[in-house]
Amino acid sequence: MLLIGSHVSFEKEQLLGCVKQIISYGGNTFMFYTGAPQNTIRRTIDDNLNQEAINLMKENNIYYDKIVCHAPYIINLANNLDINKYEFSIRFLRNEIDRCEALGIKYIVIHPGSALSLDKSVAINNIINALNKVISQDDEIMILLETMAGKGTECGINNEELKAIISGINFKDKIGVCLDTCHLNDSGVNMSEFDNYLSSFEQVIGLEKIKCIHINDSKNNIFSKKDRHANIGFGTLGFDNLLKIIYHEKLKDVPKILETPFVNDKPPYRHEIDMIKNKEFNPNLISDIINS
Ligand code: FE
Ligand code: FE
Ligand code: ZN
Repeated sequence: MLLIGSHVSFEKEQLLGCVKQIISYGGNTFMFYTGAPQNTIRRTIDDNLNQEAINLMKENNIYYDKIVCHAPYIINLANNLDINKYEFSIRFLRNEIDRCEALGIKYIVIHPGSALSLDKSVAINNIINALNKVISQDDEIMILLETMAGKGTECGINNEELKAIISGINFKDKIGVCLDTCHLNDSGVNMSEFDNYLSSFEQVIGLEKIKCIHINDSKNNIFSKKDRHANIGFGTLGFDNLLKIIYHEKLKDVPKILETPFVNDKPPYRHEIDMIKNKEFNPNLISDIINS
């Protein structure tokens, strides 16, 4: 069973709105932010909408247990020079986790953080301390560290950095990884030899830690450290390389989430999911999106 979905908006009708969107895109799981990724304004969770969402998921074979939340970008657990910001990030992440638990969501993706003026090793220590403060033993949620492109002073840009963070976490069953195919390319991984990457991941971290994969093409070359997503098949990775990852036998239980750019303000996801299900590149994808 292919687990495929996209980023959807939580703004309208909360989880119920997400489910309606992913049904219209033909996906069977999804990712969302509990509010705008750039700010911290959050509305209270509506239990009635949530129950309706759960019912709709059952009727439409949407995998509730594979849904992923993405924490907002403003959280930075890596730098503690401004102690107020650091403690705010810790509190806010805890808050987002509580909201996820109220929604019944099992996974939350975070960007490990940016070191800014600090040494990487100090920054990684800050991330570890923050996560150990955030995670409690009876949490049902797993925090997924996203593999980053290497923009600026980002942490988590290779398996060694991710491993260093995971090693310091007290409750290791509560920490996992979210691969992002665009970020991997931009950080220097040759995505046409993905099996090599996967075997090094297996040795350093362990494949069981991969709980989500962001499927994006990249607008930039390998090792560009840029992080600009392209539509599936319209970037450096190309359709065939992405398809191999999407249908990889060792990753079949892992949800694949599209975070590709809108085209003329239109979501590309229905067309990209179609193309992925057909396993055939659609050279007219962009015009199909525009004309939809
Ligand atoms: Fe992300
Ligand atoms: Fe991503
Ligand atoms: Zn990205």
